[in-house]
Amino acid sequence: MAVLPVKCSKCGNTVNVDPEKHGLKCPSCGTWVNTAMALQKQHPKWIELLAQEKKLKEEFNRLCGYEGSYESASSRTKRILMKYKYVIIMLTVDIVCFIIRIALYGFTPPSSALEVLLIIAMLILSFAAYLLPMIIESVRERSEEINGINYAREARPKLNDKMNELQKDKEAYLKKYGQIDASQ
Ligand SMILES: [Zn+2]
Repeated sequence: MAVLPVKCSKCGNTVNVDPEKHGLKCPSCGTWVNTAMALQKQHPKWIELLAQEKKLKEEFNRLCGYEGSYESASSRTKRILMKYKYVIIMLTVDIVCFIIRIALYGFTPPSSALEVLLIIAMLILSFAAYLLPMIIESVRERSEEINGINYAREARPKLNDKMNELQKDKEAYLKKYGQIDASQ
C-alpha cells in the first residue's frame, strides 16, 4: 500500500496518509489529519492527477451512453408511430374519405390544367404537413445515433491510452514522493 507523507498542521510531525482513505489521527499529537485537505496543500500535483482521472471517468461514462443508446429499428419505428399517431389517424381518415367519394360519385378526371395543379399542390402540402416532420425526425435521430456510436468507437482506444498513462503517472508519483507502508 502506497502512502504519501504530509506534515501534521499542529505539531509538524510527518504523517503518512493513505490517499484512498479519509484521514487519520496524527500519531504524535492526536490531531485529525484530513487526507483531502492535507494533499490539496502539500501534494497539489497528486490532486491534479485525481482531477484528470475524474474527467476521464466522466468521458468514459459519456461514451457508454452513446454505445448504450442504440435502438433497434423496430422499436424506433414503433416509438415514432406512437408519437405521430394522431397525424397518422388523420391521414388515414383523409384517404378513406377520398376512396368513399370515388366509390359514391365515380372518378372524374380533372377538367383543366389549373385543377391538376391544385390537386398536386394539395397533395404536396398534405404530405409536407403530415409526413415530412415524421421522416425528418426519424432520419435525424438515426444519424445522431450513428454519429454517437462512431464517435465512441473512435474515442474509446484513445481514452484507454490516456487512462493507462494517468495510472502510470499516479504510480510514478507515489514511487517518487510516497512510501510503501508494509503494515497495510
Ligand atoms: Zn501532530
